[in-house]
Amino acid sequence: MAPEIRYTKLFINNEWVDSISGKTFDTYNPHDGSVIAKVSEGDKADIDLAVAAAKKAFARNSEWRLMDARQRGKILNRFADLVQEEASYLAELESYNNGMLLQLSSRLTSNAVDGIRYTASLADKIEGSTIPADGDVFCYTLKQPVGVCGLILPWNVPILMFLNKVVTALAAGCTTVVKPAEQTPLTALYLASLLQKAGVPAGVVNIVNGYGETAGVALTHHPDVAKISFTGSLEVGKLIQQAAGANNLKRITLELGGKSPLVIMNDADLATAIRFAALGVFTHQGQICIAASRLFVQSGIYDQFVKGAVEVAKTLKIGNPFDSQSQHGPQIDEGMMKKVLGYIEKGKQEGAKLLVGGKQAGSKGYYIEPTVFADVQDDMTIAKEEIFGPVQSILKFETLDEVIDRANATNYGLAAGIFTTNVNNAIQFANNVEAGVVWVNNYMGGGGQAPFGGFKESGIGREGGKHGVDEYLEVKTVTISVPKKVSN
Ligand code: NAD
Ligand code: MN
Repeated sequence: MAPEIRYTKLFINNEWVDSISGKTFDTYNPHDGSVIAKVSEGDKADIDLAVAAAKKAFARNSEWRLMDARQRGKILNRFADLVQEEASYLAELESYNNGMLLQLSSRLTSNAVDGIRYTASLADKIEGSTIPADGDVFCYTLKQPVGVCGLILPWNVPILMFLNKVVTALAAGCTTVVKPAEQTPLTALYLASLLQKAGVPAGVVNIVNGYGETAGVALTHHPDVAKISFTGSLEVGKLIQQAAGANNLKRITLELGGKSPLVIMNDADLATAIRFAALGVFTHQGQICIAASRLFVQSGIYDQFVKGAVEVAKTLKIGNPFDSQSQHGPQIDEGMMKKVLGYIEKGKQEGAKLLVGGKQAGSKGYYIEPTVFADVQDDMTIAKEEIFGPVQSILKFETLDEVIDRANATNYGLAAGIFTTNVNNAIQFANNVEAGVVWVNNYMGGGGQAPFGGFKESGIGREGGKHGVDEYLEVKTVTISVPKKVSN
């Protein structure tokens, strides 16, 4: 049943190598905590090699720099074919190393194939403009790849995060050094093998497994890295911005999670709202940056809504991610499980009403029962901090005006949602909520064609769509003297 592990080394310059130190670290299966592989542990010395390879691959006159943009797109489309062929293996490997329900990893991997093809199609649509500048000049812009990009990945959706960052960087013509999360290195390594098979030249994609404090820090401080794209915690996001400022003013894209409000108005379709509210916070055991972790319910339907929410949480079937009957899998590791259980304790202590769940499920692996708190107040810890676990916090409100203020009273600003059948409510909420992504009468709808990212401390920059590619490009303005008047 366990998928075969084919790659555990570092991938530098299209070769599989041990780390210079020879060190390895264990990677685990969150279902039972068992060790599934020993993976090469890279640190500064390995990052230096990988950055050197990426720098060489980005040099003027390199194969990659001379390649037609259309050809980059073709290589990425070939890569999409390979991901499609290997989708079920990749989904299994993802679930094995991450604990994601196999149904979810399968769906995300097949969506990812479409995502790769979309981004591949943008490779030869990176266009500048011609500008009617002052004087006898011809003025135009070029959009050029920013250079060597350091891509630091989180553990929560490893395949998707790898593809969002790597494929976009490649479509833009950059070269990359990827640092997967230490918890989940395996799918990144396998995807690197497919990129090589698809024809990506040596040095364009390098993977250095390792820890944040060593390999990650080396990457964010490297003077030859032009840009860092990072998804993960706010705490590390701030360190990355400081590293970028302290040294060569790297460009940064940061996606740092949130405390996203979901608002249910009295006039909402109740059954639909209850279903989406559960999906919004329990999908992937709450380990998603856009988790609907503050659920504001209007007073007229509050009691009825809470009853429905409890029913849904109670019936979610907890079990092995590989079992097709399972609806709720494990948290990523023991540390995160304890952190989430700590938040649940805090919720109880501070007076929120625990209605269902609240405990570890079973004694093996890192499972937590789907948990619902009602009567949550804005100043409680569980209403303020990102929990990253299966904890639904329900708060009561009276008016739209009030709930917009309360929704915005957070340092975060990633996502927001509203369920209402009144178009004015919907548009006024969307206009005024401080969030990079807003859903009306759905939650998590749409796809990778649209920009994604946060206001405030949820991040800097956007991924997805054409905006996502722009984050990997510099704009160059060229002004050429040329008389307007033709005189000979
Ligand atoms: P983290 O931010 O520490 O780790 C994310 C990535 O950053 C990993 O690859 C890690 O090795 C690397 N990293 C860590 N420290 C670094 C440093 N100083 N310099 C460079 N890279 C570094 O996240 P975590 O500790 O695994 O999780 C903590 C919390 O972060 C979670 O509880 C959750 O709230 C949040 N989180 C958010 C997302 C998201 O999607 N936005 C994803 C994962 C975790
Ligand atoms: Mn951390």
